[in-house]
Parts: sequence; structure tokens; C-alpha cells
Amino acid sequence: MAEPVRLTFLGGLGEIGRNCACLEVDGRILIVDCGLMFPDQSMPGVDLVLPDFTWLKNNADRVEACVLTHGHEDHVGALSYLLRDLSFPIFGSTLTLGLARSRIEEGGLLGRTELIGVADGERRWIGPFDVEFIPVAHSVPHGFAIAVHTPQGVVLHSGDWKIDLTPRDGRRTDLARIGTIATTEGVRLLLADSTNAEEPGHTVSEREVAATLRGLFGDHRRQRIIVACFASHIHRIQEIADAAVDSGRVIATLGRSMGKNVTLARQLGLLHIPDANLVDIEQIKDFPPERVCVVSTGSQGEPMSALSLMAAGENRFVKLGSGDTVILSSHSIPGNEHSVSQVIDGLHRLGADVVHSGLAPVHVSGHAKQGEMKTLLSIARPDYFIPVHGEFRHLTHHSRLAMEMGVADDHVLLCEDGDVVELTDEGIDFAGEVPAGYLYVDGIVGDVVQGVLRDRRVLAEEGVVVVVVTVDARSGEVVAGPEIITRGWVYAPEAESLLEEARKVITVSLEDAAAQGATDFDTLRRHVRQAAGRFVQERTRRRPMIVPIVMEV
Ligand SMILES: [Zn+2]
Ligand SMILES: [Zn+2]
Repeated sequence: MAEPVRLTFLGGLGEIGRNCACLEVDGRILIVDCGLMFPDQSMPGVDLVLPDFTWLKNNADRVEACVLTHGHEDHVGALSYLLRDLSFPIFGSTLTLGLARSRIEEGGLLGRTELIGVADGERRWIGPFDVEFIPVAHSVPHGFAIAVHTPQGVVLHSGDWKIDLTPRDGRRTDLARIGTIATTEGVRLLLADSTNAEEPGHTVSEREVAATLRGLFGDHRRQRIIVACFASHIHRIQEIADAAVDSGRVIATLGRSMGKNVTLARQLGLLHIPDANLVDIEQIKDFPPERVCVVSTGSQGEPMSALSLMAAGENRFVKLGSGDTVILSSHSIPGNEHSVSQVIDGLHRLGADVVHSGLAPVHVSGHAKQGEMKTLLSIARPDYFIPVHGEFRHLTHHSRLAMEMGVADDHVLLCEDGDVVELTDEGIDFAGEVPAGYLYVDGIVGDVVQGVLRDRRVLAEEGVVVVVVTVDARSGEVVAGPEIITRGWVYAPEAESLLEEARKVITVSLEDAAAQGATDFDTLRRHVRQAAGRFVQERTRRRPMIVPIVMEV
């Protein structure tokens, strides 16, 4: 009887983002990725969303290490929070570690970890884990799929991946190695990226984007060109830089992460821009427009990003006008469509020419579509399958795809965040649950709970009415007030008669309460809340937050 192997999913199964899975062998825990998620409109004021780390904190002494599939924020961005409580080494490619490092460094937590670089195809022991790092193509260079050779057979995690037969760096997804594992040891369990599980066909090669970009640089020969893309998409930046250099332009980066990543990737030899062509953003004014290319962040319409500020005419270095072409070499992540659309509108208002993925093929996805998913399933031929990285709909579609490809129906597990599964000689089964709710970060602390978000939503949508009243502690008689302060319910200076009426209604309610002998705080507060709430509802059909403040003298 071989020893059981367990898997605990802390994030990424039910949402796009905050990817984090934990593998247990011999009582030790290997964390695969530790990512964050960006908030949506239902989370006002929230900066980031993290996995719930309760289970890891409770098992801190069993954590062996973390292995990283690649350097995107949704895979590495939560490390700087987990390292506040835990200390463990982190393994990944040099670029991945470089990208992960900056947040850890900003948090002053480099001392709590050791960053250990691994090479393509490397296989090494990490505690009781026999881990192999298999190259995959994705929208950031040097991604890995991770194969762990366990007592229960090979557990293969695809990471984020796609098949690009002509990738920019020639580094293809190593399907041959996966095939070898399948035909020798066999793949016991496959965990695979589900992001594009609803998309038929195959993702187009990065090469085609390069060709489109070149064409656009040719068409807009006399204009200044600004291209926005993800700061971690080094291959895309290379394509932009090549098109710029070939058309005799200098390149300047705009946005903090763009500058940092370009420097890092050039140091690592992953990005090639001649020194002579790279200038500081402050220098672009010394060049005529047709000799300038700016590579910028903000392709998702993030409010304070370089591109948003440009679109609002508020960027310090780049004032856009009719002599400019702006290319958004990206696709809006679900939830960001509206912000991106507003940015595009602002750019048009300034007179700039705008090219986005709806108009020209200036972007391709970094994730496998159905055709590639089927290819992986047919090569890996896994005994068991669990879809990861996706919303529930993506996980569902990926499950169906696996069944279509011949994985037995009862060998496909549709897991969600918090699920624990166990692999034994008999097979695989659910083996419990751990906490896996959203951990909301606002500012520097992760103490924003559901109640706080609910309050914020009410305040944002309906406003607040504060009623302050002072009563005599013995008789319950109103001594001062009620005074009404409101934000977001009605505009007070223009609603004096309405407020006066409200004061009267609340006073009457308190007099009734006093007549019935109610003098305690809670009862009086309840009377104020009910009277004010009813009045507001009846007179305005609105439901602001009512905050009664009763003081006693
Ligand atoms: Zn991802
Ligand atoms: Zn990714």
C-alpha cells in the first residue's frame, strides 16, 4: 500500500485569480503558486483579494516550500502576505523569481525566504517532493508546468499554458516530455488551466501579433506611437520594440512596473533593445513624433495607470493629440471592459488614432483553448482529472471536455476552493474542506469582512442619515435635537422642509416611547431608527443607512 497524497485548493477554483494549491506527501506541504485577485465592482475600496491562509497558518511547521509556475500576479502576488506569517523557500524560473521578488522586497520580507532558481526541465527533490519543472508557453516568459512524482504516481499541474508552435523565444510547451511521462510512469492526476475552456479552436501564435504591429507602425509612419500592454508580457514588449527600432524610433517606458520589468528582462537577457534606442520618458520631447514609441502600462483601464492618465489629459510626460496613435495590445479582463471603454473614449476625445483588439489582431490569449486542452489530455492520458484556474463555468466545461477525451466520468472531479482531495491506491476522493473565503485587503490590512463590504455598498448606493438626539436619562424626555445629518440621501441645503418634517416625526416617536416608560438606550435607539427609516422610505422611496445616536444627560 502506497502512502496517500492529498491536495488542498485554497484559490483559483471558482474565480480567475488568487491561484493557490497545496500538495501533501509524507506529512509535508508543497504550495503550488500563491496569487492574488483584483477586486470587482462588488468590492468597493478593496485593493486586493487573497486566498484565506488559515489552514496554512495552522500547519505552518509542515510547509516545505512554494513552487511557482510563472510570474503573473495571480500566481505570485500573495506571497508577500503569506510570508508575514510563514517562512519557506520559493522555487521558480529566474524571471518568475525576479517578478515575485519586488513585492516581497517592498514588504521587507526577503529575510523570510530563499529564492531558488530552477532551469527548464530540471528535476529535483524538495523535501519529500520529487519535482520536475516542464517548460510551457504563456503570456509571460519562462512558465512551467509542474510534475510531482509522488508515491501515488505523477501529479501534473499545467500552470497557465498554451501551445504556441512559433513562440517569440522558440521555447515551446514541452509536450514531448509530458508524453514520455505518460508512456513510462503514466500521469495519475492532471490539474489543468481552464481559463479558455469555453473557447473553441486554438490560440493564434504571438508571431501574428508581431506582424500586425509591424503593419501598424508602417501605416502610422508619421505619428508618435504609444502602445499599452501588460508589463509582464516581455515577448509582446520585444515585438513592440522590434517594430519601433526597425522604423527608426526611440523607445521610452511609462508606468512603474513597465520600467522595472524592462530593466529586469534586459538584465536577464530575455529582452533585447539596443541601449541607443532606449531613452528616458523625459527625453521624448527632444525627438520628433515620428521617431518616438512609448510602451505603457494601463491596458486594463486601471484608474491611476499611465494610459488612464494620458486619456484624461493628466499625464505629466505625454500630452496626446491628433498626431498620436495609441495601440492597446491587450484584451479586457472580464470586469474591466467598462474602464477600458472609457479610456478608449477619452483617447478619441483628445483626437488620437486608437487601435484595439476589436479593430485589429493586436493581441492573442496566453491560455490554451479547447483544441489545445484536448491535445494535452490526449498526450497526458491522465487516470484522474481536476480542472483548475477558472470560474465555475470554465471548470464545468473543462470537465466535460476531459470526459469527451476519454477520462472516465467518475475520474473527473469538479472541485472548488477549500476542497481537500486524497489520492490512494483505491482512487481519488473528497477528504474534507478547509476555509477558503476571500481575504480582502484595503490599505495594508486584510481585515475587511463581508459586513464592511455590505456597509460600503449601502453607503455608495443610498447614502447615510445620522440622527442625533439627547434625552433625559430618567424621564426619557427629549432635551436636545433630534438633529439630522445626511450624506447621499438628499441634498440637505435644499431639503430643509423635508428634514424639519423628519425631526417632528422622530420627536413624536420618542415622546410615545417616553409615555410608555421607555428610557433605556437600546429601546430609544430602536424608536429613532424605525421612525426615521419609515419616514425616509415613505417620503423618498430610498433606503439609506440610518444611524441613530442617542445621548443621555
Ligand atoms: Zn493565471
Ligand atoms: Zn498567467
